[in-house]
Amino acid sequence: MSISTRAEQTISRTVSRSTENAGFDCLRCGLPVPPLVSGSFRNHCPYCLWSRHVDVEPGDRAARCGGRMRPTEVAHRRGKGLTLVHRCERCGHLSPNRVALDDPVPDSAEELGRLMASGAIG
Ligand SMILES: [Zn+2]
Ligand SMILES: [Zn+2]
Repeated sequence: MSISTRAEQTISRTVSRSTENAGFDCLRCGLPVPPLVSGSFRNHCPYCLWSRHVDVEPGDRAARCGGRMRPTEVAHRRGKGLTLVHRCERCGHLSPNRVALDDPVPDSAEELGRLMASGAIG
């Protein structure tokens, strides 16, 4: 195996790894959703909190639905902290995800507060 072939393989591995933690464009407000710097997976827009049905398990991007997911609830779960629950408008799938407040692009505290105030909290 030549050196250049090895280098190409290293590059393609790096690319596919960054794709796994890629952001996506929010289906509601159209803004690009950046991935979390912590290495965990963000599944929702930090600006409007809507999500996109792309994961079966967090970060696997295995769901084929692709529907818009409405934030329905902010719950404080023991050991997990603040959790945002989304329901897919297309298939009805419910998906909890950690709220990200310590990221350089934190989830909107204003929108979180509005969701809490709407009484949709468990
Ligand atoms: Zn959005
Ligand atoms: Zn769905």
